[in-house]
Amino acid sequence: MARLLLIEDDVAIRTPLIRALRERGHAVASSSTAMEGVQIALNDRPDLVVLDLGLPDLDGREVLRMLRAVSAVAVIVATAVDDETEIVGVLDAGADDYLVKPYSAGQLDARVRAVLRRGTLAAVDQTIVVGQLRIDPGTREVRLNDTLVELAPREFDMLHHLATRAGQVVTKRELLTAVWRIPHGGSDKTVDVHLSWLRRKLGESAMEPRYLHTVRGVGVRLSVPAGSW
Ligand code: CA
Repeated sequence: MARLLLIEDDVAIRTPLIRALRERGHAVASSSTAMEGVQIALNDRPDLVVLDLGLPDLDGREVLRMLRAVSAVAVIVATAVDDETEIVGVLDAGADDYLVKPYSAGQLDARVRAVLRRGTLAAVDQTIVVGQLRIDPGTREVRLNDTLVELAPREFDMLHHLATRAGQVVTKRELLTAVWRIPHGGSDKTVDVHLSWLRRKLGESAMEPRYLHTVRGVGVRLSVPAGSW
């Protein structure tokens, strides 16, 4: 059983598909618009998103980019046309698989199981190493110089997100979206406060940064301290 999110505006496709997927034992949430779909994906963190490319409010490829910017959720794209350029495009944009409409619930179910199986294999060890910092999203443990660092949940999420983008500057907007699930609004202060707690726990400060660097007016970068491996 998987937790699925179906983003599909055509009720004649959506309703029977939801029923058929539930009969196959999946928990199914659904949305008929892109923006609501992204919000549900952020809040509920489904195992997999089935994304129709032709949505009323946003192009499906745009939705795919938004999902990919903030989450590693598996995505199967449903395209209306069997167009190789389009299919290659969505796979390059981060879709895990695709289906050409019309497709049956049985086909979709088989693709869902295959994609999630691949994900499980890939998830065996996702530990990220940045210098002497080891971040394991499976156990949610962080070690610095082989010593366990106790982090609060949002501190862990923030460090992990920065680690997935190590060496790059991540904007506070992106952190608010990825860590706090606030795609609009919210306050930079939220990020600043957690950043200062995180720094303290890693034994550094804004004045003497080692791993966590504030890039004024842009965001935060996690990087290996100078002179270390
Ligand atoms: Ca559609």
